[in-house]
Formats: sequence, structure tokens, C-alpha cells
Amino acid sequence: MEWNEILIRYGEISLKGRNRNVFVRKLKNNIHAAIRDLRTTRINAERDRMFLIADDQDDMKNAMERLSAIFGIQSFSPVAKCEADLDAIKAKALEVIGSDETDGRTFKVEIKRADKDFPYVTGELQQEIGGHVLRHYPELVVQMKKPDIILLVDIRKEGAFLTSKVYKGAGGMPVGSNGHSLLMLSGGIDSPVAGFQLMKRGVSIDAIHFASPPYTSELAKRKVLDLTEQLSSFGASVRLHIIPFTELQQAVVQQVPDNLSMTTTRRMMLQIADKVREEIGALAIVTGESLGQVASQTLESLTAINEVTTTPILRPLIAMDKLEIIEISQKIGTYDISIRPFEDCCTIFTPSNPKTKPKLEKVHHYESFFDFQPLIDEAVKNRTVIEADSEEKNHYDFEDLL
Ligand code: ATP
Ligand code: MG
Repeated sequence: MEWNEILIRYGEISLKGRNRNVFVRKLKNNIHAAIRDLRTTRINAERDRMFLIADDQDDMKNAMERLSAIFGIQSFSPVAKCEADLDAIKAKALEVIGSDETDGRTFKVEIKRADKDFPYVTGELQQEIGGHVLRHYPELVVQMKKPDIILLVDIRKEGAFLTSKVYKGAGGMPVGSNGHSLLMLSGGIDSPVAGFQLMKRGVSIDAIHFASPPYTSELAKRKVLDLTEQLSSFGASVRLHIIPFTELQQAVVQQVPDNLSMTTTRRMMLQIADKVREEIGALAIVTGESLGQVASQTLESLTAINEVTTTPILRPLIAMDKLEIIEISQKIGTYDISIRPFEDCCTIFTPSNPKTKPKLEKVHHYESFFDFQPLIDEAVKNRTVIEADSEEKNHYDFEDLL
């Protein structure tokens, strides 16, 4: 079966006015970036749908695989085009139906007639086309409610467009249509999922990672880079900032008693992240924190850590169970990277009994004996910035909606 173009339907149809224009423009850019190596493709964007045209069938197939990973797409369909003429439409209908399994299946015809000059009314067309299909595929049974196959025929001025397939898109909003944030990316299972969730809501991200060489190795860095690349495959390339954190961590361990060092370490991380956020013009910080998971993620701990900034901290996983998070990480291809064994800068310096209810006065007290600010500034200044872009474009398996 030769398809001529892909019809792309948008998500978030409630979007209005200027927002819709931003949405469509970003989506078009993101699709363009995802398929730019497929030479025969081009995109036509309309107000409420988009067409991806490919002259080459391989390009068509590749483009469809990539579309399934791009946020802002509700669903998409490969479409066959013919002349807006009843005989041509009937012939094309047989071809399209023939591309599906027909044995023991139910079907119906749905007509959309944008070309009001077309010399048949919708009912007639349904009868004519449906009857023709049934004569050639007598095993099909007509069924109006939830049939296995819906043959969609869209008659426009420039021709007739037919399809029988609707594939589910990734949903959400185009990355970049909802601003920019800084993701704290650890290398664990949670933070990449948090980044994915925000990207799904249209937020583009930079990532920041704290490394404590020589206690953390090159392999740990490689892992975070791989996670960054995997995230890049969901729409827009993600930049990674690696912060040299050893000196600061050692200072914390020296200044603050064991059971509060975790809290102070997190507060230092957040202050550094906030400075980087400001430099790159991002509006919020994203973390993979989930309530109650560990000592640093109780409400009391989160409050004590959060005190260092008024910047919004977005925690998309805060109310999720670990199993739910793992399920998403498997789906988005970060799980296998996250479970590679590695040393996290925090686990190395983790005390055996961190406080689950750290007292702010105590934290302030111990932090007051040492000026951490120069070390914070130095860490920000000495960061390495890596531009990650996914070479391997991501795709989900098609999930047929029909
Ligand atoms: P994750 O699986 O994301 O590591 P976690 O459940 O292990 O999360 P913590 O290790 O307490 O929880 O980290 C909580 C959050 O703090 C992480 O989700 C991440 O956003 C941030 N974070 C922790 N360690 C680092 C690090 N080395 N670099 C950057 N961010 C970090
Ligand atoms: Mg962790």
C-alpha cells in the first residue's frame, strides 16, 4: 500500500488564540527537527491539523515511527490521496481496506465533505463506497458502533484523502511551548522520569548534575550523559551542566554533624542549581523527589531544603508510587540506563542516620560557622556544559486506536 501523506491531529484542542499559534509553530519546528534527515519530507501546517508529505515510502515509514514520540500530537494517520471523483475514490477504498486484515472483521465508512460542490451527498457516498467495498470483501460485516475498521474518506477541493488507520500520538504539548526549566538529574530512576513529565507538558529543559570526583567515576558521568541523550529524543535537545561538587561536599561533612549533613548538602545543591537557572534564564527547577521515599523527602526535609530559594520547584513525581515511576522509566527507555551500578555523590557521603525532621535553627546554626558562598560560586563557574543531541531518534511502538 502506497501512502501519500500523514495527517497529524493536535492535542489540547481547548487552546485558544495566540497560544494555539505558539503550539502549532513549536510542533512544526519539533517535527521538522525530528525528520530533518529524511530528505523527501515536508510539512504543511494548518490551524487544526498538519500534513507531513513524503515522496519516498521509506521516509514515510520512518517519519511515522518518529512522530509517535513527539509531544503535542494526539494521533496521526497515513493517508492515500486520489482524484475527487467517485470511481477513483472507490478504487482507492479497496486498496486501503486491503492493507488491513479483513477476515471476520466489522467496518463502516465515514465521510467528511469539505468540498460542498462535490456532486453527491454524504449518505449516497457512504452507500456507494461501502457497497463497493463489501462486494470485493464479502467477509466484512458492516457495524456502526465501534467497528474494527473505519474507512475515513475526506473530500476536499484538492482531492480525496482516505485512511483506515489511526495511531496514538504521545499527547501532551510541544516541547518549548511552555517555557524552560532546569532539571536536577541524578542518574537514579526518578529524575529522568520527572524531566520527561515536564517535557510532556511542553517545558524544554537543561539538566544539572552534581559529580564528586574521584569518589564518583567517569562511568557515572557517562550514565548521566546517556540519560540526557535519551531525554533529548523527546522533542528538543537537552543541555547538561556538570558541577564539580567534591570540595563543597567535603566542607559540608566537616562543618555539619552527620545527621544534618544530608540536609545541608541538598541546600547547597539547590543554591547552585538556582544560580545556574538564573544564568540560563530558566523559570523553575525540576526534581525527581517523591514524598516519603527517603529521609530527605519528608515534608519537613523538603521544607528545610527549599528554604534557600523562592524559585518554584516542580516535583512531578511527588505523589507517585515507586512502581508507577519505574513503569514510566521502562516505557521511555531510561530504566536500563538508570539501573547501571554507579556511585552517586550523595550516597557516598550519606550518613547512616540522616534526620527525617531536620530543625531549621540547627541547620542555620551549623552552616553559620563557615562561608559556603565562595565554594558555591566556584562550583557554578567551573561547571562543564555538554550539548546532548540524540542521534538515535526515539519511537514508541504504534498503538492502533481502532
Ligand atoms: P533519583 O532516582 O532521581 O536519584 P532518588 O529517589 O534517588 O531520586 P534522591 O537521591 O534523594 O532521590 O534525590 C532526590 C532528587 O534530588 C533527585 O530526583 C534529583 O532531582 C536530585 N538529585 C539528587 N542527587 C543529584 C545529583 N547528584 N545531581 C543532580 N541532582 C540530584
Ligand atoms: Mg538518587
